Amino acid sequence: MKKNGKSKYLKITALVSALILNLTACDLGEDTSVYQTGFISMDTYISFTVYGNNRENAAKAAQKETQRLEALFSVTDPNSEVSKINSANGASVKISDDTANVIQTALRIGEISGGALDVTLRPVIQEWGFTSDEYKVPMEETLNILLEKVDYKAVELSIDPTEKNITLPNGFEIDLGAVAKGYAGDKAIEILKENGITSALVNFGGNVQTVGTKPDGTKWNVAVRSPFDESNFGVLKIKDQAVVTSGAYERYFEDENGIRYHHIIDPANGYPARSGIVSATIVGESGCLCDALSTAVFVMGAEKAAEVYRILGNFEMLLVTDEGKILITEGLEEIFENRSEMTVDILP
Ligand code: AMP
Ligand code: MG
Repeated sequence: MKKNGKSKYLKITALVSALILNLTACDLGEDTSVYQTGFISMDTYISFTVYGNNRENAAKAAQKETQRLEALFSVTDPNSEVSKINSANGASVKISDDTANVIQTALRIGEISGGALDVTLRPVIQEWGFTSDEYKVPMEETLNILLEKVDYKAVELSIDPTEKNITLPNGFEIDLGAVAKGYAGDKAIEILKENGITSALVNFGGNVQTVGTKPDGTKWNVAVRSPFDESNFGVLKIKDQAVVTSGAYERYFEDENGIRYHHIIDPANGYPARSGIVSATIVGESGCLCDALSTAVFVMGAEKAAEVYRILGNFEMLLVTDEGKILITEGLEEIFENRSEMTVDILP
């Protein structure tokens, strides 16, 4: 029987989304009041926790912004900008600044990761059924034929101050699933700040991004989920940063023999990536960059990821190996609290 990790998750979270809480701690004074809201968008459950006087207006504006971006980036909505790009049959398409920004980051990390992140992977992802929830294990020959239509280097993105255009070769299609949530998180944070918010946490289906610290000035505690069970194995203490995880457990199905296939695909062969990494968490300032890197690092494995870390230098990472070991970069030594039996090694 097939099992879908994500659907179960969405069912539970859909119930939670019905709850819109406005908790006002009257006796603690106005500055510590919190507004919390949750909703489904971008194929996941999203929640905002916002402090400060303008919290409710700010959260509502950020929610509107998320929904605006979903309408641009959705690969399943026939009216989205991504769908227009995917149905252009080789013609050039004028795109918004947001879509251009996301694609530009994806192409840059595609380059840096040696193609581990490939924004043109859509035909392969679709064949596995990861966007339609109609899962199947494709034939190897089918994957090989589809992979001829996968190559981020073939994307022509022209960024002009007044106009942005994209051209894909005929038959190519893009999927922004690996980067869109991080970008939307950045935009939500931007809107909250524009609305005067100095303390907030947004959670895009496990991608956590923060404004400032908690109202009492202490850092946010972001739990890191175990890829092996439903527990949290540790905590990252952060402020003004994003914590983005790519995990094999986030979306998967099982075939009739109980073999599990997850949603992060290695563009080298079209199969779920097997790099020895079962969960990759990236900490950094840009949610979009963290999101792009989390997917790329999951595909690349620890050794190549450490090389990218040395080249870019503007993020930190925490990896869990399939042998149950935790690997972290040195910048996390002070802020990661291991609450599990797993050993922690520092990446070179
Ligand atoms: P994330 O959860 O950020 O790691 O993104 C995973 C999503 O990105 C998948 O559900 C696919 O839609 C897409 N995807 C999977 N593998 C790749 C890849 N190697 N490069 C680009 N996008 C991918
Ligand atoms: Mg990602």
